[in-house]
Amino acid sequence: MIARNLKKVQVRISALDKNQQVTLIAVSKTKPISDLQQAIDAGQYHFGENYLQEALDKIKALENQNLIWHFIGAIQSNKTQQIAQNFDWVHSVDRLKIAKRLNQQRPDNVEKLNVLLQINIDNEPTKSGISPEKIDDIIPHFATFSNLILRGFMCIPSPDNAKQSFAKMANIFKKYPNLDTLSMGMSRDLELAIENGATFVRIGADIFGKRD
Ligand SMILES: *Cc1c(COP(=O)(O)O)cnc(C)c1O
Repeated sequence: MIARNLKKVQVRISALDKNQQVTLIAVSKTKPISDLQQAIDAGQYHFGENYLQEALDKIKALENQNLIWHFIGAIQSNKTQQIAQNFDWVHSVDRLKIAKRLNQQRPDNVEKLNVLLQINIDNEPTKSGISPEKIDDIIPHFATFSNLILRGFMCIPSPDNAKQSFAKMANIFKKYPNLDTLSMGMSRDLELAIENGATFVRIGADIFGKRD
């Protein structure tokens, strides 16, 4: 079932991904390792996780399979060390303090940690993320972070106006030619995100089934 779902998602992506710029991240939060293994056997190797302890267990159980791990959940300061040591990408950096800690805690002997700034694209008071107006305050600091590489932005738009929000995110992204990554699009809005230039889509339910 997971292999078939994965195939369907891949078909949806390739129908729109004319420039072959989109990478599929399988979001496996709350799902058992056996589900991830099914996806791996079907060729998937980018995985996204939201909850640190659960993610660490999976990373350990699946080491040696050459997977790429993306942290996409809310980040508390006391979790940054484990994130810095165990992930390849972090999509949910929403304040300078977190970036500083990740930079200090990323081991020097591994590749730089790939970082995306989470943007609160609709300025929703209940959502985390940097407001679009504050992006230029935070970006210059990355020049001093020798263990991080700022790659781009992530957003989770309000479902009511995803189309406008993705377009807005795309316009902001265009102003930063040094950045190459735009993480947007989930099961419900993957097509809209790709039409607006997403380079990572993060798909959970449509691959692994609904979560409880
Ligand atoms: C859970 C989650 C996803 C996947 O959402 P689905 O609706 O299951 O595709 C993507 N991004 C983030 C940040 C998530 O927390």
